[in-house]
Amino acid sequence: MEKRILLLIGVLFISFCLIGAYIYNAPQQTEKEPDGRIGVVVSILPQAEFAEKVGGDKVWVTVMVPPGASPHTHEPTYSQLREVSKAKMYAKVGSGIEFELAWADKIISVNKEMPVVDCSLGIELIRGGHEHEETGHEHEEEHEHEGADPHIWLSPGNAKIMVENIYMGLVQTDPANQEYYAGNKEKYLQELDELDGEITHALSKEKNIKILVYHPAWAYFAKEYGLEQISIENEGKEPTPQGIASVIKQAKENNITVIFASPQFSTRSAEVIAKEIGGKVILINSLEKNYLENMRKVAEAFAKV
Ligand SMILES: [Zn+2]
Repeated sequence: MEKRILLLIGVLFISFCLIGAYIYNAPQQTEKEPDGRIGVVVSILPQAEFAEKVGGDKVWVTVMVPPGASPHTHEPTYSQLREVSKAKMYAKVGSGIEFELAWADKIISVNKEMPVVDCSLGIELIRGGHEHEETGHEHEEEHEHEGADPHIWLSPGNAKIMVENIYMGLVQTDPANQEYYAGNKEKYLQELDELDGEITHALSKEKNIKILVYHPAWAYFAKEYGLEQISIENEGKEPTPQGIASVIKQAKENNITVIFASPQFSTRSAEVIAKEIGGKVILINSLEKNYLENMRKVAEAFAKV
């Protein structure tokens, strides 16, 4: 009798182990494979758009900061890191955005063979003014970017350079398809040129436009099209009462009645200021995937101010 119970327990134990081992391994086996496509990891959604435009149906893009999340605070998930482990290339923004300062080393450590493309190569960074919070990081390369405005992708001119950098990374990773990537790249660069022309046209009539934004993401855009950016938030922190008072004063002096806020951030202080100056809050997204359409929308909104 006891022998049979022991045997039963033994059989059950082995069964549980087998089921456990199966469940543990199953996700890796059944996960949808990139069906021969090149796994490309990027940090933010506009980069995903760039990588897909250049890579077409030859790439499989994983974006680390998903829709609605902020690249200033997001942390990678386990399933994202598993995608990273299968990727053939990582295109980082490279301008010192907090997500990368905090997580690039971890991402790279998950897949040490994976080449890392720095999308900011060749882009002149704007320093001072807008500083993002420091995070403990030891990378020498990233120290150069300390204090730089990380929002480089928000100017079509910079976007073109980022697209070139992604293209070069893809060619290095997958030289057999160079012609295909080059064709896609040229087509998209042309679209970015058209966008640039449209924005220049939309904003040219109104010179000296001052835009009041909650999160100071638009310095590169402002520089390219001759606007002036006034921001409510600074250094990633909610404004102080004095800060709010100063913004209200500037807004009144410049007859500003529109405050541009981002969906990724709280609009509370923007609403407070809007009420004070008798203006309104308009949401603009600095992280929309559909880059061309979004930038057109933003330019239109700025032009209406
Ligand atoms: Zn930002």
